[in-house]
Amino acid sequence: MNFPWQKTDSPVVKNSDGGRSAWSEMALDAINEGVMITDMSGVIQFINPAGVIMLNLASVNDVVGLDYNLFFKIESKDGQPFEGNDNKFVNSMVMGQPLENFQCYLVAQKVDKRTPIAVSVAVMDGGRGNRIVTFRNIAKELEEEGAQAEFISTASHEMRTPVASIEGYLSLALNPQTATIDDRAKKYLEQAHEASKHLGHLFQDLLDVTRFDDGRTKAHFVPVDLVETVKRISDTFAVQAGEKSLRYQFGSANSELVNARSVQPIVYGYIDMNYMQEIMGNLLENAIKYTPEGGSIYVNVLGDGDRALINVTDTGVGISADDLQHIFQKFYRADNSQTRTVGGTGLGLYLVKKRVEAMNGRVWAESSFGEGSTFYVSLPRLTPDEYSKRLIDFQNQQTAEATREQQMAAAHPQPAPIAQPVPATPQPAPVAQPAPVAPAPQPTAQPQPVQQPVAVPQSAPQPTVAPQLVQQPQPISQPVQTNSINNNGGPNE
Ligand code: ADP
Repeated sequence: MNFPWQKTDSPVVKNSDGGRSAWSEMALDAINEGVMITDMSGVIQFINPAGVIMLNLASVNDVVGLDYNLFFKIESKDGQPFEGNDNKFVNSMVMGQPLENFQCYLVAQKVDKRTPIAVSVAVMDGGRGNRIVTFRNIAKELEEEGAQAEFISTASHEMRTPVASIEGYLSLALNPQTATIDDRAKKYLEQAHEASKHLGHLFQDLLDVTRFDDGRTKAHFVPVDLVETVKRISDTFAVQAGEKSLRYQFGSANSELVNARSVQPIVYGYIDMNYMQEIMGNLLENAIKYTPEGGSIYVNVLGDGDRALINVTDTGVGISADDLQHIFQKFYRADNSQTRTVGGTGLGLYLVKKRVEAMNGRVWAESSFGEGSTFYVSLPRLTPDEYSKRLIDFQNQQTAEATREQQMAAAHPQPAPIAQPVPATPQPAPVAQPAPVAPAPQPTAQPQPVQQPVAVPQSAPQPTVAPQLVQQPQPISQPVQTNSINNNGGPNE
């Protein structure tokens, strides 16, 4: 049968299959997406003209009958070859597993040119047949994404400053020591204060997301005792949990949702401390947010072979199976009566995932709607020997850096500081500055490293605070003794 758009007088329909193969050939010749077909051992059977051009080959005959590995060379954004499982393309070709839109850079033959591509692989006969590889140039998409990210980043950065200022002024207005307001005004101001805090969080999260998406953030690894590190971070959320009458326990063998394996005495890891702070902060803030009063939160760290497994478990509202598949996506918020009343940006878990993956880990959640949730973070674990070695390397690196800085300082001595006149910036009504009751929230509550090898590199941005308005605000969650909120009245394990 001929379709209406097939002209019966066209020469291309005179094939035995009614013209199908001729049309397919015409399409393959015309599209600007590369198409390459190999057999299951990787020998090229076919490549279309766009593919020939993208690989910078002289002609199809250059490659047909040869192994695709000789011509199809890919690398990461930073020009490094992919290693092991990171090379999703080669894995897919070898294992005969389909692949969709793997982003990488195609290195052209003979010339110094690399093209950003998204490569997909379709496999025939359940992986035992030909591989059909399609690859398209995504330079324009990346450019557009970059411009968009740049816009979001600049806008968030610019808006964060006035929002912090509004938040600071509202704190002052709500502080009985700095302002007198009637009860009705107080209610409105409290709502405005909540909204400004939410905006502040949103801008900070947006900034972090754009930093991750365009690869501006890099992990700075330090060898640590993970049990001690995770406990120290988690314990700082005890007060917040206590304020909502939630029981918080670290290293609990009583956890209701987690298996009752006992805590291993030492689990070493190689992590970015700031990332870890953000990850635990986000999981714990969610656990507190989504658990009604009287519930429980358990945190634990287990050594599991060559992995370290952290869990944050709550007895809260839980997540339905439908939502569970999406919660790590950007801006995803489960829409139900339980979560609708709880503020949030839907960016927290996306950032958790990005940060965990940047530390070569994996994060996932298990939950039943109405019955609480457990978030797991699995990270590579160091043996005690590896830990000692990395610790020495790290300390040497720190010493070398300190020496370099001293040498720089000696080579370029700073002139004696000249007394600067105080700039005449417009200031709010000069009131005596007591500590505000509700200070602007710190998106990155930095705990002081306890027993850390050395100072941790700072990669997280410092939040902006309304100039001269409030004293340097304190982190929302204050470190406390964990036993202060253990409802059993006994110390935490
Ligand atoms: P949000 O700012 O909305 O909390 P997140 O990215 O941190 O954004 O979380 C995404 C969604 O996942 C939340 O809106 C909520 O529906 C769900 N969620 C996350 N943590 C929990 C939890 N501990 N219990 C129940 N639901 C949760």
